[in-house]
Amino acid sequence: MAWDFSTPPDFQAQLDWMAAFVREEIWPIETVFDELGQAGFDAAMAPLQERVRERGLWAAHLPPELGGQGFGQVRLGLMHEILGTSVFAPVAFGNQAPDSGNSEILALAGTEDQKERYLHPLLAGDLRSAFSMTEPQTSGSDPTLLETRATLEGDEWVISGRKWFSSNASVADFLIVMAVTDPEARSHQRASMFLVPADAPGVQILRDIPTMEHPQEHFGRLGGHSEIVYADVRVPRDALLGGRGEGFLIAQHRLGPGRIHHCMRWLGVSARAFDMLCERAVSRYAHGSLLSEKQTVQNWIADSAAQMQAARLMTLHAAWRMDTEGASAARTDIGMIKVFGAGVMHDVVDRALQVHGSLGYSTDLPLEAMYRFARGARLYDGPDEVHRQSVARRILRGYAAPEDGVPSEHIPTRRDEARARFADLLERVTAND
Ligand SMILES: Cc1cc2nc3c(=O)[nH]c(=O)nc-3n(C[C@H](O)[C@H](O)[C@H](O)COP(=O)(O)OP(=O)(O)OC[C@H]3O[C@@H](n4cnc5c(N)ncnc54)[C@H](O)[C@@H]3O)c2cc1C
Repeated sequence: MAWDFSTPPDFQAQLDWMAAFVREEIWPIETVFDELGQAGFDAAMAPLQERVRERGLWAAHLPPELGGQGFGQVRLGLMHEILGTSVFAPVAFGNQAPDSGNSEILALAGTEDQKERYLHPLLAGDLRSAFSMTEPQTSGSDPTLLETRATLEGDEWVISGRKWFSSNASVADFLIVMAVTDPEARSHQRASMFLVPADAPGVQILRDIPTMEHPQEHFGRLGGHSEIVYADVRVPRDALLGGRGEGFLIAQHRLGPGRIHHCMRWLGVSARAFDMLCERAVSRYAHGSLLSEKQTVQNWIADSAAQMQAARLMTLHAAWRMDTEGASAARTDIGMIKVFGAGVMHDVVDRALQVHGSLGYSTDLPLEAMYRFARGARLYDGPDEVHRQSVARRILRGYAAPEDGVPSEHIPTRRDEARARFADLLERVTAND
């Protein structure tokens, strides 16, 4: 038996430090983010980032030779569960999306020059990045339909197209852009990735799209999702990231670990909402008893605890599989947790909001913001339906229709087979009757 659910004491000590640090130093920033603005926020973060570096926890997702900590996915998962309690915590730890995923792509596919120019400053926190793939006019669920084109003219790539929902693009220094380079190739070999400076001529960042999470547009602030026109943007030949036609291959590497981190961060959100749910249950009195004594509320607490535990074990198991067997062995697990984890976060936040009544619906508590945040999780990094479809497809590969069309478990057929197999015994038993 090699299964072991314990955490090594030295790493548990790091987790304990992170939990206290995030709660004491980062949660308070949430309440004054609007007043600070982007520049004030960066100033508040700088000393915290320094403390994280001193503690040896900066950019833990990357290998030590690139300035990271080389944590495997299980350790990263445990860490992200804590960081997920605040949207700002990953910024303090140098592993906020999309920079963390983009740095993984650069580490995986970047040339030495590209690493020097983009990866090292990204890791140092001197640059910010965005990942620009989804387009308003084509289905993001099926990126083989991408229309943005990159054509090679002499020594330059010329990129033209329209993208949207490129997270953090309005504060980014560079963008990783997915564009079709080989329209005639097989569907998953048509697109390539490019490193595009945000100030390159022709990059037009039109707006940060107001969303359910951020209904008011605040252009140029962390957490925005930009709409961008690439109007004949010229980049040098060596702006190609990875091989020509390898865009999907590289994207796949980025998405696997990223989804584990998302799911663990969602558990961080769920845990915070769950604490509010329980605190309210033992505080609010109505109809002759505390809410904690009402069976509906007890059901919510028990169901939430069970769902969170299930999501946590599923996610850590997917992380363990990725560490021990590799990313492709963990694909089905990752698809399952992406859907399941997003649903759990939604349900727990919804119950916590409900138990607070009008207070939960108000902006005096973070629950309504968590609820809006939770809804997006069912869309980004692939909508639920697409993950369910690919999980089911992969599972179904292990099944075939019975040759005779009779279900394998058909009892009369099995009984006939069993009667033939135990004929002697049955004859003896019957003779004794
Ligand atoms: C908060 C947020 C951040 C994002 N950040 C980024 C980013 O940084 N960079 C980036 O490039 N993109 C980003 N996106 C875009 C995101 O990846 C896409 O929205 C997502 O892939 C879905 O694409 P779509 O919006 O075009 O929906 P569509 O592909 O049009 O799908 C719409 C709906 O159709 C249904 N559907 C689709 N396929 C199937 C199917 N096979 N079976 C059944 N139903 C189906 C689903 O219900 C789906 O929700 C972000 C999105 C959000 C919400």
